[in-house]
Amino acid sequence: MSAIRIGILGYGNLGRGVELACRDNADTELVAVFTRRDPSTVTPLTDGVAVYPADDLAAHQGGIDVLVLGGGSATDLPEQTPACARLFNVVDSFDTHANIPAHFAAVDAAARETGHVAVISAGWDPGMFSVARLYANAVLPNGADYTFWGRGVSQGHSDAIRRVPGVVDARQYTVPVPAAMEAVRAGENPQLTTRQKHTRECFVVAEEGADLAAIEKAIVEMPNYFADYDTTVTFISQAELDRDHAGIPHGGSVIRTGSTGAEGRNTHVIEYSLKLDSNPEFTGSVLVACARAAWRMAGEGMVGAKTVFDIPPAYLSATDDAELRATML
Ligand code: NDP
Repeated sequence: MSAIRIGILGYGNLGRGVELACRDNADTELVAVFTRRDPSTVTPLTDGVAVYPADDLAAHQGGIDVLVLGGGSATDLPEQTPACARLFNVVDSFDTHANIPAHFAAVDAAARETGHVAVISAGWDPGMFSVARLYANAVLPNGADYTFWGRGVSQGHSDAIRRVPGVVDARQYTVPVPAAMEAVRAGENPQLTTRQKHTRECFVVAEEGADLAAIEKAIVEMPNYFADYDTTVTFISQAELDRDHAGIPHGGSVIRTGSTGAEGRNTHVIEYSLKLDSNPEFTGSVLVACARAAWRMAGEGMVGAKTVFDIPPAYLSATDDAELRATML
């Protein structure tokens, strides 16, 4: 069987993660990278992979089985995913949870125009965590859901700190509160406020001579980002930031506690957790598994937008059905 021909649109952290995942999956082959920047300024990690202008995508329709989108959720994917779903089977990692229904509708309409499959909002959250939440809710209808994120780097919060006057660079870690997690794991079903679930740790490089107290106040009081959390700010040098905070780790846990039996006397705890050294490399790996599934679904004549909820689990796997039944059931 020939390899699934993968293209990548948008070559940032996630684009590189998808590229590396293609190397780990022998049934996939990365055939091209597309970028909105000057292609001569973009160098894939893999020798021999061509880089083309994003404007040339349509010319490559015959050579790509699934296009994986590496763009950002804020402004790239709302435009790119519907446009690309008219040309290719696609997979994206759209992660603005509140806007997923609108994004799904726009992508679904576009994909149906030309008969493609478009898997949206793949990754780990949304993505693997969503599947964990769905299974847990289906099995334990009487219960409560909890999601804890971290310890991990939040790019959005790091960017928000960089916009504070006097800040040169920053890394923000989201950290779950251990006592809250323990209470949940113990089946206590606690009612937790935002502040009780996570803390935020900020490592900040300031301009020389900057007013550090003013920077700290601007960060910890920033609405939507930090005001609702207990936030610590540690000023460090650029060299320390580069040395100690270069990685993009993340992870977290989805926990559902529920009860069964007469008067709910038996308690059950379901937990799915991830500890990721590299958020984009892991997310890229999920996207490539979803690209495999998208290609199979397209091969069966399915069309339109799909999410991880619509993918039969076995379609994600490179292992054939008989072997899956023999080894993993
Ligand atoms: P990046 O900022 O690294 O890349 C986003 C885009 O920026 C790239 O596709 C690239 O497009 C463009 N870009 C412009 N200039 C540069 C440059 N100098 N270097 C690199 N890229 C550049 O974002 P990430 O890859 O870290 O994240 C992308 C999205 O992935 C996030 O917005 C988030 O929505 C999603 N995500 C989803 C997760 C999930 O679990 N569902 C988990 C993690 C991320 P171009 O090549 O066209 O210029």
